[in-house]
Amino acid sequence: MVNDEQLLNYINGQWQRSTAQESLKVNNPATGELLTRVPLSPAAEVDQAAQTAAAAFDDWRHTPAVERVQYLFKLKNLLEEHFEELSRLITMENGKTLDESRGEMRRAIENVEVACGIPILMQGYNSEDIARGIDEFMIRQPVGVATTIVPFNFPVLVPFWYMPYALATGNTYLVKPSERTPMTMQRIFQLLEEEVGFPSGVVNLVNGGPDTVNAILDHPLIQVISFVGSTVVAKHIYSRAAANGKRVVANGGAKNPLIILPDAEMEMTTRIAADSFFGNAGQRCLAGSLAITVGEAREWFSAALADAARDRVVGYGLDDGVEMGPVITPQSKARIEGLIQQGVDEGGKVVVDGRKASIRGYEQGNFIRPTVLDGIPPEGKIASTELFGPVLGIMHVKSVDDAIAFVNNAKYGNMACLFTNSGAAARKFRYEAQAGNIGINIGVAAPMAFFPFSGWKESFFGVLHGQGRDAVEFFTQSKVVIERWPKEWTRKF
Ligand code: NAD
Repeated sequence: MVNDEQLLNYINGQWQRSTAQESLKVNNPATGELLTRVPLSPAAEVDQAAQTAAAAFDDWRHTPAVERVQYLFKLKNLLEEHFEELSRLITMENGKTLDESRGEMRRAIENVEVACGIPILMQGYNSEDIARGIDEFMIRQPVGVATTIVPFNFPVLVPFWYMPYALATGNTYLVKPSERTPMTMQRIFQLLEEEVGFPSGVVNLVNGGPDTVNAILDHPLIQVISFVGSTVVAKHIYSRAAANGKRVVANGGAKNPLIILPDAEMEMTTRIAADSFFGNAGQRCLAGSLAITVGEAREWFSAALADAARDRVVGYGLDDGVEMGPVITPQSKARIEGLIQQGVDEGGKVVVDGRKASIRGYEQGNFIRPTVLDGIPPEGKIASTELFGPVLGIMHVKSVDDAIAFVNNAKYGNMACLFTNSGAAARKFRYEAQAGNIGINIGVAAPMAFFPFSGWKESFFGVLHGQGRDAVEFFTQSKVVIERWPKEWTRKF
């Protein structure tokens, strides 16, 4: 496996031990077992990585796109060959079930596949004779040194929203994994080194925490910042990187509503909604966190979801039959339990209480069982705060308009979903709802790799998103060329 004492940094094609004075423990969230330690790398190591990536840029951008994608083909095959190993590693460090980790790996690989189309995706466009004898072209060129700063909940998928596109378009790259789930990327870099063989300095990995991130944001040789994490940090990243003149995208937190109309198909809606609320233990940026029932939907929805919550098998994600794992840390568990209490204090009725969960054999794990709070008030904190745990708050309203108004007044806008049989209601919702990812009879509206991973309002700061064409545009700068070749000059040839 990975170095079991302390994770290493990968800079200029070499593994190196950080000189950091401080390191953090990485524990398996289900067993409590110490897995490794992660160094909080100092600014000097970010500087080293930035220098080496900058030095590698000239040669890498001159490497034809058709050659650059050969590395990505190798990467794709490598991820397939080590699919199970890497999926298990995600489960060990993050806690999600093995099937959920496999889903994450699959989505990461799909991004590599899409980026393999870069020779076409990166093409510009041209117009001949914009005036007599004058042609105009737009060509795309890489920007320079690009980085991704990663959250704990998708340790592989999030960097793969960006890394394959950054590299394919000719940028060199640095990733800063989450200090809570840094192991799988370390393993992927070991495999990259052994089997893909990017030229030295093209891909780099530096572990660390906030100080490491700030050193990235301030480094003059780093031009592009992609970030995914909580809104408070996203705002910091966006403003500091922009103040330093960098190209930046910052995805933030979420509080995703699922609206249930009375005509929704009960069995399917229950199954899909339960997966949205409790899948990945609610630690998904596209997790449903709030259900808004309209009219008579309240009569069946709360009871159906309460049954689904009670039925969910909670345990260690590597064990057979487990449907939901723990949350990431004891601190996170305490925070979520505190918010559940707040929901109760605000008037929510606990229909299923997942607090004080203890899983036999995993007493040290950070487990919360699925929790359902019914009748939460729209103005309460529980209706608007990101919980990032397996907790469903249910709110009841009278009309679709009331539900849409609530969605549109909320501060986040990552995802909003509607469950209905009515095409007219679906059309109205799709048109009016202020969120970047919309689901109609879908509980986790996660875009495929060839669509942008959108997000609105306080869930997203920037213009261009991760994945697909947006990512290609984000990692390239357009250059417009106007050429004059009058007829009288070209006539002699
Ligand atoms: P986080 O914001 O705590 O950390 C994310 C990254 O930022 C980490 O690499 C961390 O080292 C760094 N960081 C933390 N504090 C910092 C600071 N003060 N200064 C500079 N850097 C700092 O997020 P998390 O808890 O790891 O991840 C969960 C959050 O991510 C949730 O809010 C979730 O909604 C969000 N998320 C959003 C999306 C999306 O697409 N919008 C996707 C996944 C996760």
